[in-house]
Amino acid sequence: MNVYLIRTDGVEDALYFGVCDFLQHIPGPFTFHTHGHPAELSIQDEVKLLFPDDEKYHRQEVMESRVMYSAEMSVERLSWKDLFHANNDFRKKSGIPAEDIVILLTDYGNYPNWFSGYDEETPNNYFVHTEQWELYAAGDNRYPIAYQIVSILLKQIMFDKPSEMFTAMHKTARGCILDFCEQKEEISFKLRTADICPDCQKIIADRKVSHVHIRYTFEMMDSIRRQLLFRERYDLVRNPLPLLLKGRNKSPYIPDLGMLKINLTPAELGVYLLFLNHPEGIKVSDVVDHRTELSEYMHLLSRRDDRAVIEKLVEDLCRADSNSLSEKMAKIRAKFVKLLGADLAQSYIISGPNGGEKKIVIDRELVKYEE
Ligand SMILES: [Zn+2]
Repeated sequence: MNVYLIRTDGVEDALYFGVCDFLQHIPGPFTFHTHGHPAELSIQDEVKLLFPDDEKYHRQEVMESRVMYSAEMSVERLSWKDLFHANNDFRKKSGIPAEDIVILLTDYGNYPNWFSGYDEETPNNYFVHTEQWELYAAGDNRYPIAYQIVSILLKQIMFDKPSEMFTAMHKTARGCILDFCEQKEEISFKLRTADICPDCQKIIADRKVSHVHIRYTFEMMDSIRRQLLFRERYDLVRNPLPLLLKGRNKSPYIPDLGMLKINLTPAELGVYLLFLNHPEGIKVSDVVDHRTELSEYMHLLSRRDDRAVIEKLVEDLCRADSNSLSEKMAKIRAKFVKLLGADLAQSYIISGPNGGEKKIVIDRELVKYEE
């Protein structure tokens, strides 16, 4: 069964492609399709971020602050009709057959303030709201959003019409996938229990939902629950998870958190690979001694940049009087902390005393490479 994920402009690449990767990390009856490709930031773009007179100045910061803005301030809302206009437009332009499912991931709110909704006019159209999850569920937004999608895909088979589904939903929370969660706080209970109640199990049995679909639903629910609980329990367990560097670009992933990708820019990743290769640590003032190695990583990671741009960046990073390196280390830290929480992130970030050796403390036995 084909499921097309589309998005509104404010939904970041990391979330959009990350949700799709997560939905596919367990095999099931669905083929998920995304639209377009993640934007590839070149070192040149990144260097340009530092010059205020450039039109691309702080482009990335502007994108990030826009997302924060909509989460903190009152979210701009659209009518359901407007939201589903995007689904229908996509169907028409891409020639999507009526039986295929189209799910819009949107940073816009909607009038009754629902997590997700269905189109009453065109079957198989849905939306999922991507913002404000942090108010109800700790951790990465990919997990609750993936849960909404898994639940949509199950309900889709359990009921002939969305209106039937609406009647069957539990107005009082049972920790079941069919909880309506009128009080948004109830979502946290639902994600933790991640279960299907006996009444709903009966409907599933009567409707003869395929085993492969049921297995996918349960395995996804278990996986989401594991990710959420892992972060909460990390304090007690103190057991860092393996780090995987994947592909030619050596993109960092935490496979045990549902292939969670840490989105580092090429320059950040170049710095990260240098420190990863030096478990003994490097003083900021001594990075210049590793200039050749750093330069090799940057050339490896950059497909589009010319040599001069890369060498200029490497020179900046190696200059003792520039804060270019500390800035990259701070950005790397912020990205790991955002996805893993401050405690778990400690094993993966570059840290150390001022003026002393900076290092990544993770046991190198836990670092794996995959082409
Ligand atoms: Zn139920």
